[in-house]
Amino acid sequence: MTDIAAGLEQVRERIRNARIRAGRVDRVELVAVTKNHPVTALAEAVSLGVEHVGENRVQEAAQKRALYTGKEPLWHLIGHLQRNKAAQAVRLFDLIQSVDSERILRAIQMQAEKTDKVQDILLQFNIAEEPQKYGLKLGDYENVLAALAEMSHVRLRGLMCMAPFTEDPETVRPVFRVAYHLYDDLRKRFPEGQIRYLSMGMSNDFEVAIEEGANLVRVGTAIFGERVY
Ligand SMILES: *Cc1c(COP(=O)(O)O)cnc(C)c1O
Repeated sequence: MTDIAAGLEQVRERIRNARIRAGRVDRVELVAVTKNHPVTALAEAVSLGVEHVGENRVQEAAQKRALYTGKEPLWHLIGHLQRNKAAQAVRLFDLIQSVDSERILRAIQMQAEKTDKVQDILLQFNIAEEPQKYGLKLGDYENVLAALAEMSHVRLRGLMCMAPFTEDPETVRPVFRVAYHLYDDLRKRFPEGQIRYLSMGMSNDFEVAIEEGANLVRVGTAIFGERVY
């Protein structure tokens, strides 16, 4: 068995166990984060049944999509998007998870309208308000929803959040809990079925995230090993 196959099997086992602990009966989907790993790693993951891949840079994703010839996964953008890359992002990604400002939301709407695509997005919240991280603040919530209501070519599918990095994932449980409350509120405010994703949890904290309601986890290192920069 290759390292990637073994890593993937372990991650799936950990997801299964966290779901059981939490008594979850709904689906928890895995986004394999392939940033800084070669397209061969991505291809191997897809051949092992991975359906979602996450990239944090538009340029890197474009290169990989051009090289990759296998069965198409769903492509997720999980890193900060600049306005001058919005057109490319709308072309490349099935789900833009990292919508972190009203400005980028408007840029995505404009580009999606031009190409007549309805772009699925998540709103990224910086719940702990860490200064070094991108993301909307809780105080932006109502304004962003009001802006979204005017947009014809952007479809909100849920929320993404990143917890502060810590050695002990238990300490971030309250952050995930706040995110779940927002997600629950969104589900009540939008038509049935539209709000589907609560994206939270990475290699070091995805089990706690699942226990707190995440249904999309973004895992890189635990599948592919350490990234080399
Ligand atoms: C890199 C990254 C991940 C994956 O992190 P790992 O610790 O390698 O699992 C998840 N989410 C975002 C937004 C990332 O940038």
